[in-house]
Amino acid sequence: MSDLLERLRGRGWRMTAQRRVVAEVLDGEHVHLTADEVLARATARLPEISRATVYNTLGELVTLGEVIEVSTGRAKRYDPNAHHPHQHLVCSGCGAIRDVHPAGDPLAELPPSERFGFTVSEAEVTYRGLCPDCVARG
Ligand SMILES: [Zn+2]
Ligand SMILES: [Zn+2]
Repeated sequence: MSDLLERLRGRGWRMTAQRRVVAEVLDGEHVHLTADEVLARATARLPEISRATVYNTLGELVTLGEVIEVSTGRAKRYDPNAHHPHQHLVCSGCGAIRDVHPAGDPLAELPPSERFGFTVSEAEVTYRGLCPDCVARG
């Protein structure tokens, strides 16, 4: 479970009403919204919130390392699950994303002979397929 709000409070993040709404929209498990989805949900809760505030706040949360940007081939998604290494399962049909925890360490799976002298610090694996809803729709 993501505890974004608690983490931000713990860091003494300046919590205005607008910034809080952005953090609330992002908080939770398996949350991977696009910036426009964050904006739509934030506006539903706080109609006066501006697009600039939403985008700036997202950028700030990413810079703080409390939210990660996920590229899935479509629009960038924002993921509050920043402190638990995980990979993503992406539906090629509807774009649904789930956090997954494969047994192996993807970093360890790249042999030294394939590292070309790089110091490798991160690895991202995206598993693609169809979610059960898309399979059911045929
Ligand atoms: Zn799907
Ligand atoms: Zn994730």
